[in-house]
Amino acid sequence: MTLLFDSIKLTHPNLYSAFSSLEDGELHLNRITELDSYWNRLKQPLQPVILPSGKLPKDAVIIGEYDLIYAGGTLSLLHAAVMVGKYSRKVMIFDRQTPAKSTRDWNISRQELLNLSAIGLFTESDIDSIILRQYKTGWVEFYKPDGQQKRLVIENVLDCAVDTDKLLGLAKEKVLAASGNDIIAWCTFICCYQFDDHIVVQVEDRQGNALYYRAKVLVDVMGILSPIAIELNDGVPQTHVCPTVGTIASGFEDVDFDTGEILATTGPAETGFGKGRQLIWEGFPAEGRKYITYLFFYDEADSPNDKSLLGLFETYFKTLSEYKKPGVDFVIHRPVYGIIPAYCHDGFDRTREIAADHIILFGDAASLSSPLTFCGFGSLVRNLHHLTADLDRAISDNNLSKKHLEKISAYEPNVASMANLMKYMCFNSATDEPNFVNDLMNEVMIVLDELPQHYRQAMFRDEMKIEELAVVMLRIGWRYPKVLMATWEKLGIEGALGFFKNIAGWAFSPVR
Ligand SMILES: Cc1cc2nc3c(=O)[nH]c(=O)nc-3n(C[C@H](O)[C@H](O)[C@H](O)COP(=O)(O)OP(=O)(O)OC[C@H]3O[C@@H](n4cnc5c(N)ncnc54)[C@H](O)[C@@H]3O)c2cc1C
Repeated sequence: MTLLFDSIKLTHPNLYSAFSSLEDGELHLNRITELDSYWNRLKQPLQPVILPSGKLPKDAVIIGEYDLIYAGGTLSLLHAAVMVGKYSRKVMIFDRQTPAKSTRDWNISRQELLNLSAIGLFTESDIDSIILRQYKTGWVEFYKPDGQQKRLVIENVLDCAVDTDKLLGLAKEKVLAASGNDIIAWCTFICCYQFDDHIVVQVEDRQGNALYYRAKVLVDVMGILSPIAIELNDGVPQTHVCPTVGTIASGFEDVDFDTGEILATTGPAETGFGKGRQLIWEGFPAEGRKYITYLFFYDEADSPNDKSLLGLFETYFKTLSEYKKPGVDFVIHRPVYGIIPAYCHDGFDRTREIAADHIILFGDAASLSSPLTFCGFGSLVRNLHHLTADLDRAISDNNLSKKHLEKISAYEPNVASMANLMKYMCFNSATDEPNFVNDLMNEVMIVLDELPQHYRQAMFRDEMKIEELAVVMLRIGWRYPKVLMATWEKLGIEGALGFFKNIAGWAFSPVR
């Protein structure tokens, strides 16, 4: 056992015992600790990583030149594969871990996945080959002490479990199929140097050597840990977060392989200082007898609550049997985890910084998706067409200034507005009753249940129209007037104004 394992033996005994049985438990423990370092990083003074050209060391030798360099090797693979296959761009992808291997698992509907074949990235049979299982129906349910909770049944939403590594592997093959492209593992982004007509990226390999590469554009896809996003947003890259942990496991006693449990709570929120969490479960059937379970909660980025993935994993293993009962042949195949980012924009349009000269941010580094429903994967699949076509045009026209690049984004006014609703799901032990989130969400489920299927599908697919949201909100206000008080407590004047601005921006945007 390593020092890291030893260090959690007493503090996180359930996590320790579960991870000790995993072949690569230590590797995961390292990655979890790295993600948890996010909170400390935000407390440190800003470390500039976007430097002027004059700071490039005199002895720096450029060892590779590309149209695009992607820092981060997850969602980047999908974008890069299109830039290579459709636009013949020369690309390099590097990651400080192994590119095209993710610590997450994704759910989506087949219809949405078909966007990837419409854009010419994959064939329909490729798409079918990455769907591990499609379940028949799904539901959402929030706990009520009297057992009278409304179970909202939803069809065709998040109903396909995707083989993440296979999907990324197929994209990787496409990137490497064209000569001149490179995918490099175990290289860490250190900083970049902005020149008038290009950018130089400095990375560090495993031996600690500094390597320099040149590109027209640096695409930052380093996820929530992106030092570029932290710098561009003055040390406040996220307003909210959704720490998430789980496993892909087999051997549960009581799972239904035809049904997805999209959101489920099994009790009131945890209360107490530093512990205000309304824990939410998700359960999705996967390949064969495998089943995915997640535990997560929504929170303000600056709340005093413990948001560590280590802490959440301990709770997950301690309480899993209250949600799904592990049987005698229970086996964990893989842990999944991450901090899902969220950003509430205080304006009529996007207010988060997502570009600089010769630099553009995509995926979780850009934090433009809604953690309520689909997160970064769904958002990229929806927006991939224009995120690739527009970037190719910008390169051809040599329009690579911040002003131009920041127009190429996955910002969607409806998603930005809907993300405000997440604030109602952040439990605050100082102001909320333990069942605050459950009670409110039960009312939302009742309202959605009374409306045609389309409303719930649109809400859970990030496709809601402004008039549909108005109908849902009016009905909730009518049924459950307490929501007005909750709006006051959760959003305050500033938050309510921000929500109003987002809605107004949505109302006047061409995509309604
Ligand atoms: C458990 C879980 C389940 C999820 N399920 C869904 C879902 O069903 N649908 C959905 O739409 N979304 C889902 N999400 C969200 C989705 O996984 C993310 O939005 C997506 O992974 C973001 O991809 P990314 O490439 O932007 O960032 P990441 O996946 O975080 O990848 C960033 C990469 O950058 C690398 N990196 C970081 N710093 C450096 C550095 N300094 N130098 C070099 N490399 C670096 C990391 O090693 C990593 O490989 C889920 C998230 C979690 C945690």
